[in-house]
Amino acid sequence: LQEVTEDIQKIRKQLPVYMVRGRLLEEIKNNQTMILIGETGSGKTTQVPQIIHEQRLEGTGVIAVTQPRRVAAITIAIRVAAEMKTELGSIVGYSVRFEDVTSPRTKVKYLTDGLLLREAMLDPLLKKYSIIILDEAHERTISTDVLFGIVKLAQKERNEKNLNPLKVIIMSATMDVDAFRKYFDNCPVIYLEGRTHPVTIYHSKLKQEDYQYAAICTIFQLHATTPADHGFLVFLTGQEEIETVMYNIKQIAKEAAGPPIRVCPLYAGLPPAQQLQVWKETPPGVRKIILSTNIAEASVTIPHIKCVIDTGVVKERTWCTSTGAERLSVRACAQAAGWQRAGRAGRTAPGAAYRLYTADDFKRRPHHPSPEIVRCPLAPTLLMLVAAGIEPTNFPLMDSPPRDSISASLTLLKELGAIDNEGTPKLTVLGRKMSAFPIDPKYAKVLLTATEYNCLEEALSLVAVLSSENIFHSPIHKREEAYKVKQKFVSPLGDHITLLNVFNAYCKASLKKQWCKENYLNHKNLSYAIEVRKQLLSICQGLNMASSSCGAATDQIF
Ligand code: ADP
Ligand code: MG
Repeated sequence: LQEVTEDIQKIRKQLPVYMVRGRLLEEIKNNQTMILIGETGSGKTTQVPQIIHEQRLEGTGVIAVTQPRRVAAITIAIRVAAEMKTELGSIVGYSVRFEDVTSPRTKVKYLTDGLLLREAMLDPLLKKYSIIILDEAHERTISTDVLFGIVKLAQKERNEKNLNPLKVIIMSATMDVDAFRKYFDNCPVIYLEGRTHPVTIYHSKLKQEDYQYAAICTIFQLHATTPADHGFLVFLTGQEEIETVMYNIKQIAKEAAGPPIRVCPLYAGLPPAQQLQVWKETPPGVRKIILSTNIAEASVTIPHIKCVIDTGVVKERTWCTSTGAERLSVRACAQAAGWQRAGRAGRTAPGAAYRLYTADDFKRRPHHPSPEIVRCPLAPTLLMLVAAGIEPTNFPLMDSPPRDSISASLTLLKELGAIDNEGTPKLTVLGRKMSAFPIDPKYAKVLLTATEYNCLEEALSLVAVLSSENIFHSPIHKREEAYKVKQKFVSPLGDHITLLNVFNAYCKASLKKQWCKENYLNHKNLSYAIEVRKQLLSICQGLNMASSSCGAATDQIF
């Protein structure tokens, strides 16, 4: 991703985390668990593992560092490998679902929280790790929350069995420290001083009905009145929205007054190579405008941002326990997120944050976001816990999910045949097989059942596509055309066969990128689906599942 040309040792030693280096090492030596809190950019994620590694504190084990997002795990590992002047995948590596860039030599491993949870399923004591760093703890993703409990249990059991101790470091930007300390048995907390500059905050005077429109207006007002070297960072909710706003900005920029513009998107699904744009310096006189999801709120550091435009919204997963339907909805974000976003404007110099919502609106918002575990389906997590031999009902959680959420998820697992019907949940033979797949249990069941119906080939393709992001690409200025082109794939038998038609045609296309462009399809997501399919296939082979096709896929693909 990038070559580190700066005098890296000098820069590292100026990071706030270096000021507390001695105390940090001391606390790690003397305690099993500690909390480290510091502003984004203070050096937690990239430096703490290196500081520990340099001291060989970890003995012979590996240091694991979790991230809620795959893109963060990948880009940070790339950065740290560059800083350590080693090849990615040797001493420093990363592991995310369907992609493992580590080796037996790896000592510092960045991985998603979901992946570490899967590893815990196979080895609940996480024996290969001597230090586990749970990063971005304030985000309270379901996997991080469950990992809190897993590492607590692992610490206890490793002590009891006289195994090498497990050290745990909880890292976070600002968060509800009291709740965390209480949960982690009053462990020590280290605060890092952020090196931030003042940020002036402006609220919108009136309620904005359309935040995308308000964001675009604000961008161009600021564009006409601020010097070109002031970078803008705009918080939006997702890929499609970012693409829409990007398109509009480019159109308006043709007519607008002000310096030339470079617009860079930033969202979880973006390939690391494209992320490079965000960190690349623009030529003198060109303004950089970054359109980002909340990924830029905490996980990644972006230099030279002077103006933050905060729409005040975030996309959240929610779940309806009675219907089982899951959806992503756009919601007002918490006050903590508002402060965090504004802080991005004061990293290198004083800056300003423009909130596209009123001061009253801000005051009414909750201080912290609600943990994912109270609003998401629990079946995948429960299946992993049961597979790990952990009894879900006694599991120590910081916040318990609602009762009906647990029972609905257990019912689903029973209906799928993954767990026994009676008493404490126990994994069935089928459930054991299901847990081998790193996908939603429902999809795992589809694969396992497909062999009975002689359609494993088709099921694999379909589940691969369903486990990837949206494969259709419909740019706002070409919606109708995209819709027309799509019709040739559409099957009267329904969406699933439609998806299968697209996937099969994609596999056969020779110039895939070009073909996708012509057909309004997302090349990146389709090629990801191919990778997913390969991995799923190898798990099927590991389970001795016989290959079979019903002919809905016209050709054997692999
Ligand atoms: P934290 O985890 O506390 O938010 P990081 O360890 O991610 O901090 O980053 C520390 C510093 O390292 C940043 O302030 C920045 O100067 C530098 N840095 C980190 N990642 C990159 C990157 N990809 N490109 C350039 N600089 C980076
Ligand atoms: Mg970090």
